[in-house]
Amino acid sequence: MSDIVFRNVTKRYGNTLAVDDTSFTVNDNEFFCFFGPPLSGKSTILRLVLGLEQPDQGEILIGGKPVNSVSPAERNVAMVFQNLALFPHMSARDNVRFPLVERKVAEAEIEKRLAEVAAKLHIGHILHKPPAQLSGGERQRVAIARALVRDPAAYLMDDPISALDARLREETRVELKRIQRELGKTLIYVTHDQEEAMSVADRMAILENGRIRQIGAPSEIYDRPASAYVARMLGSPMMNILPSVRGASGIEAAEGTIRIADAEAPAEAIEIGLRPEDIEVRPWTGNGTAEVRPARVFEVEPLGGYTVVTLAAGQARLRALLRGQPDIMPDAMVAISCEPGRVHYFGQDGGAL
Ligand code: ADP
Repeated sequence: MSDIVFRNVTKRYGNTLAVDDTSFTVNDNEFFCFFGPPLSGKSTILRLVLGLEQPDQGEILIGGKPVNSVSPAERNVAMVFQNLALFPHMSARDNVRFPLVERKVAEAEIEKRLAEVAAKLHIGHILHKPPAQLSGGERQRVAIARALVRDPAAYLMDDPISALDARLREETRVELKRIQRELGKTLIYVTHDQEEAMSVADRMAILENGRIRQIGAPSEIYDRPASAYVARMLGSPMMNILPSVRGASGIEAAEGTIRIADAEAPAEAIEIGLRPEDIEVRPWTGNGTAEVRPARVFEVEPLGGYTVVTLAAGQARLRALLRGQPDIMPDAMVAISCEPGRVHYFGQDGGAL
């Protein structure tokens, strides 16, 4: 069992609450992401798991055992270092053996563990090569093998691929996901990249100022964000969130360009949220009902497979994500609509209604 549990954990640096009364469970064999803006507490959580920091309050459990007073060396969690750094002058084999050699493990045991992890990570055929002769994906497997050779309960990664260029990042995250699926080991992964978090995580936690704002599968959080903050954190272009008011015939936003009938809209809503892909755009025929207003096309960004259209609706700007390359020109007048069931509503405190 290698689940990792935080119970009401708080960590302060002076007056800064780096981790603020935080509770969560990372399940056995789960690919779990912490995602949040810089300084939201992601790295501090990792350091608390590793035992490099002590919580001021609360309890941390690994595999059911409280570890607050267990040293980092005895915690049995392994960090895979940033940029997957390997010793360049050593073969892949010596890189993987290194943590065991360093701990003076018996040679027969080292070879046994090496063989096991090499088989799990499919690197047996490249062990003789130095890192410079390995592909990016192979280097990643070797770096993970080096972390796993001690058979830790879980392995941890802190923004491991942020330094790579965009194309390599895409390849690498697919590879990471594949490796984790094959290994079936608990992985805690920190990233500040929403697309990366969504693409790799079984479940994720969204952080703000040391607090978890929502935990769940990426698709659950995307479809049912618990707050306007979380809604803005996932999705590109990000969710359109507009102040709304109660008008004569229901809730209105963007100066009457968007109207939602009473029955569907929670009375306490002060903001509505529309995902760009949920907005439909049609040419304005000029003969809609008197109270529906057109929006104006502000700018068009054709991106090949889809097109981002920025709309001016009163003072508001909305972004719509349309499939393909629709025939829409800047300054055209258009009618916009959205399935009522796809509209998000947020209340006074930013919470979803
Ligand atoms: P993230 O990884 O999300 O960027 P961190 O966990 O590094 O966030 O930081 C969380 C908060 O704790 C920040 O306000 C940061 O300035 C503060 N912090 C982190 N480490 C230290 C430290 N060693 N000393 C003082 N403040 C720290």
